[in-house]
Amino acid sequence: MGAKATKSKDLSDSQIQYALQDLVKQLERDDAAKAVRLFLQDQTRSLFPKSGDVLEWLTKNAGKNTTKRLISACTHFSCLNCKKGLRRCKNCDGTGHFGYEMICEKCLGFGAVSCDFCGGTGWAAIDFVPEGLGPVVFASHIKIAEKRLTKLLKKQPLRPSRKDAIRVFNECKHLLLNLNRQISVLETAVGITKEIANIPDNLEEQTYKLRTLSINAGLKDKRRLGKIVQSTTTGLKLYANNQRKDSKMYKLAKARASFYNSLLKSSPKFTGTYLEHPFLNEAAEKTILKKRFQKKKKGKSG
Ligand SMILES: [Zn+2]
Ligand SMILES: [Zn+2]
Repeated sequence: MGAKATKSKDLSDSQIQYALQDLVKQLERDDAAKAVRLFLQDQTRSLFPKSGDVLEWLTKNAGKNTTKRLISACTHFSCLNCKKGLRRCKNCDGTGHFGYEMICEKCLGFGAVSCDFCGGTGWAAIDFVPEGLGPVVFASHIKIAEKRLTKLLKKQPLRPSRKDAIRVFNECKHLLLNLNRQISVLETAVGITKEIANIPDNLEEQTYKLRTLSINAGLKDKRRLGKIVQSTTTGLKLYANNQRKDSKMYKLAKARASFYNSLLKSSPKFTGTYLEHPFLNEAAEKTILKKRFQKKKKGKSG
């Protein structure tokens, strides 16, 4: 090898070392957003690899601890355009209704809509996940969603009552939007595990498992959404019966009850709204069909 080539190799080696030191510094400062941006930048500058086993390279060159920290930073990097997957509804100015008589269809009367940038997950969009770290970051997101879901599914919404209707409505709304966020994470994961290019062989089985897990948890979660909307509607009707017929709150409760009732009646449930999650439905249907087909095939050959 000529002197020139050696020199440029040394230069890039030291550049890589500098870049790694910088990364460690940012990670130690606990600035997830800056650390992830830096990593992405250095990938673009070809200082860090994009393909092959990025995790292995990182562990070897930066150590286990830094690798773990970077994965955690990528996992917890929030979407910059929303708050936990939600944005204020511009259509109704965040009120959820028009003059107490009409419910805002865009936000389903909640005053907030699902964020388009992150698909309602509240996590930074896929462009902010460094290449090669996708599977491990999404696996972490699924794990977090699963944990949150288990906790949320245990929580029973308050029983509808005349007196507490507003409190019950608000609690149902929080529970519903929170559950919906977890479905969005699972739905995104299903899409990503299907499309992510070059899943390393050693992660293929894990990715398949994650996909199945996401579909099953997502469907369970969706069934719960229906139940919550149902009990919200019951509560609103009870509440309305207890109000003066010319009051604003009577009008609003009536409008809400009939709006949620119509949502429940649509088929599939919540058609055209951000509670629908068509990709998740589609993935689930495909999985069910595939299972049936395999069973049939097994039955024929066995
Ligand atoms: Zn609205
Ligand atoms: Zn967002």
